[in-house]
Amino acid sequence: MNYNTPILDQTAKIIEHVILLTEYLYESGVDYLDVPECNSNICNELSNKKGIDLNYNLLRNQANKSALENIKSIVGDCTRCRLHENRNKIVFGDGNPSPEIVFVGEGPGQEEDIQGLPFVGRAGKLLDRILKAMGLLRNEVYICNVVKCRPPRNRNPELDEIETCSQFLNKQLTVLRPRIICALGNVAAGFLTGKKAPMTVLRGHFYDYNNIPVLPTYHPAALLRNPAYKRPVWEDMQKLLQYLGRPIRTK
Ligand code: SF4
Repeated sequence: MNYNTPILDQTAKIIEHVILLTEYLYESGVDYLDVPECNSNICNELSNKKGIDLNYNLLRNQANKSALENIKSIVGDCTRCRLHENRNKIVFGDGNPSPEIVFVGEGPGQEEDIQGLPFVGRAGKLLDRILKAMGLLRNEVYICNVVKCRPPRNRNPELDEIETCSQFLNKQLTVLRPRIICALGNVAAGFLTGKKAPMTVLRGHFYDYNNIPVLPTYHPAALLRNPAYKRPVWEDMQKLLQYLGRPIRTK
């Protein structure tokens, strides 16, 4: 006798009721529910059932949004490293709270420091064009940096600054748990892969960050300075799309 199907159906009904209740709470203004992470076979199977997936995503979105807000409140008006001295705004990160892809740069630039948002200057506009060429919308992905405050004159963040600030990135990535991380530039690639090597060596290969694949590529700012990086960046983005099983675009 197969006991699994009826049990699964009953559990599915219970979860459907929970989801309906959650939607009702959400529409009534409740925006935080502490949903424990669940990767069990039964949950995965249920999430494939018609009607469950979307609602499961709603739960995950709400839980992740609240968890990210919580990390933001821990960052607070941070003075933990010297980068706070010249900053205007902390640039925490922005985007989809349940993304397939997270892009990580090194630190905010001038425009980001003014607006408090990541990748909104010239390099950000180029990243937008890259995303568009990949068939992605900016609000589908999450974008953040290794350090949250702008280093003076856009210098690279120092090792002690990275060590102090990266606790927040680690927390963000634990919550976001994307299918893949794209490390933009040497600082992000070095931190996320733990490898010290030039981008010519690192790019085009997959590495591991807490069981999440990391694909390093050139920072869009480097691409602005050196258009010859355009081809390798595009090859890397095709590799990323292929990994996700998304259509590979030809430019
Ligand atoms: S860079 Fe990070 S650790 Fe340093 S002051 Fe800003 S938020 Fe705090």
